[in-house]
Amino acid sequence: MRREIGMMKMLTFTTIVDEVAPWRPELRLFNFGEPLMHPGLGEMIRYAKLRGLAANFQTNGVLLDDNRSIALLESGVTYVGVSVNGLTESEYESIRPGCRLDDIRENVRHLRETAARMGISVHIHINAQILADESNSRRGDMERYIRYWEGIPDTLSVSGISLFDNIAVMKTGISSKISQSSLPRKDQANIVCTEPFDRLVIKWDGRITPCCADYDARLVLGQIGNQTLEEVWRGRTMADLRRMIEQKKYDSSELCRSCPKLYSHEFTMLFRKNINAQNEKIAK
Ligand code: SF4
Repeated sequence: MRREIGMMKMLTFTTIVDEVAPWRPELRLFNFGEPLMHPGLGEMIRYAKLRGLAANFQTNGVLLDDNRSIALLESGVTYVGVSVNGLTESEYESIRPGCRLDDIRENVRHLRETAARMGISVHIHINAQILADESNSRRGDMERYIRYWEGIPDTLSVSGISLFDNIAVMKTGISSKISQSSLPRKDQANIVCTEPFDRLVIKWDGRITPCCADYDARLVLGQIGNQTLEEVWRGRTMADLRRMIEQKKYDSSELCRSCPKLYSHEFTMLFRKNINAQNEKIAK
């Protein structure tokens, strides 16, 4: 990622919330950043709730300590997603040197217990990402992963990693960088993208972009404070992008022609509450 990084100001956030509140969208407070690093996360969730909006986020769980857990629960959060890299402790720890998966599990367990003690209902979801081509060969690790998290989250999933260019990935225990040019490209006629039809993605500095895949803000549609979100949503650039997607002409867009959707095999396996490797059904 080459764009500048930073923290969204509260004024930017409240401007967004005030504008979208009548439409009741779901707010997802993350995009290529770690939300728990933002000191105002609880305040943001509380403000969104005051305006009648549900706000959730996805975290790596490293900073989910006692104080943050309590602050988040007091803010009114109703859903916390935790992403872990890989299925096993050793895999996780080689992708995130210096971090331990056992610590993440203890953080999540503590969030669960604190919520119960405070009488607060919060849905906790854990997701592990792996390479799609390993989804069949790693059934044993998946059963172990299910047992490892048993009794803590409400739901658990395994999904295919999105292959952004040069992303460092683990392949059967070996960390490596993968370049998109080394991967087989899917036929654009088979690609389905719904993102510009159901969301806008706003960077920390208020720049408005069309989708989660635009991590470097290459297609900036507007700026909070200069345009309304409705103007952007109904604007020419979004209309052109949607038309291009309907016509399956991804190659004609500079942004879309390098989208991970053209290189990654997307899948999600979802496991339900109180998972048990023997009797739980795997839903694809
Ligand atoms: S880059 Fe294009 S194809 Fe990929 S998610 Fe964004 S809009 Fe969809």
